[in-house]
Amino acid sequence: TNPKPAYRRILLKLSGEALMGEEGFGIDAKVLDRMGQEIKELVELGIQVGVVIGGGNLFRGEGLAQAGMNRVVGDHMGMLATVMNGLAMRDSLHRAYVNARLMSAIPLKGVCDDYNWAEAISLLKTGRVVIFAAGTGNPFCTTDSAACLRGIEIEAEVVLKGTKVDGVYSDDPVKNPEAVKYDTMTYNEVLDKELKVMDLAAFTLARDHNMPILVFNMNEPGALRRVIMGEQEGTLINA
Ligand code: UDP
Repeated sequence: TNPKPAYRRILLKLSGEALMGEEGFGIDAKVLDRMGQEIKELVELGIQVGVVIGGGNLFRGEGLAQAGMNRVVGDHMGMLATVMNGLAMRDSLHRAYVNARLMSAIPLKGVCDDYNWAEAISLLKTGRVVIFAAGTGNPFCTTDSAACLRGIEIEAEVVLKGTKVDGVYSDDPVKNPEAVKYDTMTYNEVLDKELKVMDLAAFTLARDHNMPILVFNMNEPGALRRVIMGEQEGTLINA
């Protein structure tokens, strides 16, 4: 049997922390390349892949602001951190012979391309992986907002949120052994139960535009592929 993928075009959100692996800071090259390989598998299945990458492994504006720094400047640094991760991911994909482009919401001439909606779509249609960096380009936002925004813009069928847990639980599974995992949920169930899937701005953007969100464990090799093949994996949130 040769089952068909469940999706044609996806937006994959990778947190900066996912790239950190066992290290406390920065990028673990082995983890980076493993993720590159998993993305390559999707491309080989004919799936159009947009990637939004976080920056939390390097800088977070909020943390810097708490330490006394101007929040806007801290967020600029956070957005530049996502560009650094994006450069690393593009390099990893290129080394794996995957055609990939990096587009930044903050222009960085000579380093990567500027974000361009129409160009991103035509690149996706020709099988290029498009990495979207610098978040939304605006402070006081997160890369989860950027993932939902870009996902909606490129008309992805789903935003796949790769995290370090295997889905959405009724409570913190680390602290509460009774916590149960949900296979599917509606947007309203997530809001009613006040479960933290994403920040509220990102989540309501997805809800308002009917963009399904699937939360899964990116640290588990093969999980991304199972998600793509429509197997029960992680938690799917939709209307
Ligand atoms: N950021 C921002 N605007 C955006 C996206 C990100 O200002 O649209 C900044 C913000 O400071 C954030 C940092 O970039 O803390 C890194 O992004 P995020 O925390 O979302 O990364 P992740 O948690 O996914 O690693």
